[in-house]
Amino acid sequence: MINNKAFSKDLLGLIKTIKRAGFKCYIVGGGVRDLLLGLEPKVWDLTTDATPAQVTKRFKKVVPTGIKYGTVTVIINKIPYEITTFRSDERYIDGRHPSKVTFSKDLHKDLSRRDFTINAIAYDPTTKELVDIFGGQKDLKAKIIRAVGNPVERFKEDGLRPIRACRFAAKLGFKIEDKTLKAIPKCLSVAKKVSPERIHDELMRMLEADKPSIGIDLMRRSGLLHIYIPELLKGMGVKQPKPFHKDDVYWHNLYTCDEAPKDNPILRLAALLHDIAKPQCKVKQTFYDHENKGANTAAKIMKRLKFSNEHIKYAVNLIKNHMFNYSKEWSDSAVRRFIIRVGLDHLDDLFTIRIADIKAMGRKVEPGHPKDLRKQIKTILRKQNALHLKDLAINGNDVMRLLGIAPSQKVGEVLNKLLDKVLDNPKLNTKPKLIELIKRNK
Ligand code: ATP
Ligand code: MG
Repeated sequence: MINNKAFSKDLLGLIKTIKRAGFKCYIVGGGVRDLLLGLEPKVWDLTTDATPAQVTKRFKKVVPTGIKYGTVTVIINKIPYEITTFRSDERYIDGRHPSKVTFSKDLHKDLSRRDFTINAIAYDPTTKELVDIFGGQKDLKAKIIRAVGNPVERFKEDGLRPIRACRFAAKLGFKIEDKTLKAIPKCLSVAKKVSPERIHDELMRMLEADKPSIGIDLMRRSGLLHIYIPELLKGMGVKQPKPFHKDDVYWHNLYTCDEAPKDNPILRLAALLHDIAKPQCKVKQTFYDHENKGANTAAKIMKRLKFSNEHIKYAVNLIKNHMFNYSKEWSDSAVRRFIIRVGLDHLDDLFTIRIADIKAMGRKVEPGHPKDLRKQIKTILRKQNALHLKDLAINGNDVMRLLGIAPSQKVGEVLNKLLDKVLDNPKLNTKPKLIELIKRNK
């Protein structure tokens, strides 16, 4: 049963406007699915027999977000509503795009082009009419992802659908129905052709699941992981020293991802890839330098999957630094260098990934871990010790004047040497003392 209180005045008004003009209009896809599951829909997808032009002229703010496929986005009070004209997609030629999108007057045709039964339910809140011709409600109850129609045909039409099946399974905690799951290995040549941008988007949504490991392992079992992130497979069966580790490298990566917070998908991706290079670095019971090699591999994977440079830089930094080995003997100077190496902005996230790493090993983590290091960092930051060139009590102009040199590489070298000294001993960071140091080293 759908609780009609879930619909805002704006949404109901929008549907009524379209219907008053003589068209049909239904909520469809994730919105209906989430409502039936008792979840709060994040985005509203609507379907109508009005053409994009007929929708567009009835609203003030409309963005043609996918006009080729019949989608416009109506914005009311800053909330977007995606409205797509009923379609009956004819043949797919390349496994990516329908060769011809035909607008239709037939809701049933529109529902039959949708991927899974649980996504092919339509609901009109103004009449409470629910259209469920493929048994979507039954599958929702049974927690099953089932393709609409013949799964092999449907996956060959659009090679993105197999990874979507894994994404929904992870997101909803559902099983992929047997025939649907068995169809995936038969369609890998089509899955291979999907643009990396589309894989990126599905992966990001999978990383927001409670347990992305469900989706990633379904990808492994069905052959998709071999296409999209084969590097992860190398960890299968690679044993790690006990008693710290209970799992092989593959499962440890997946469980670390699950343990990382789900509101930060890129941190979760870094967690998934944090030990990616362990298999190639294994010598007896050690994995020397796997953090640096892993950072390089992660950068390659993320570039291939079209992650932004900013996201790559962030994940690489976390992976590269995840092996820090703090002890109370760390001097303030060592902690200052650690802060600089990781970057103030990423310190908390590095600790978060470390906590996920420990939890994934099945070990307990004290609240606030690593307490002593955090305390030491706080104290250092409170003292406002110099950590960067800009914090030094002198600048490039002072150096040039004192040494009588023009702007050159030398100026930077001198400043860096001074910073190095100041990191060891913050008391040196006064103008007279730094001038004295420069003169002495002239
Ligand atoms: P979410 O809540 O994560 O957004 P969703 O089901 O709304 O899930 P979308 O990707 O937003 O997923 O797509 C909206 C609807 O469009 C789907 O529910 C499905 O009916 C249809 N759809 C989307 N992508 C495909 C596809 N590749 N093949 C067939 N139908 C699709
Ligand atoms: Mg959606």
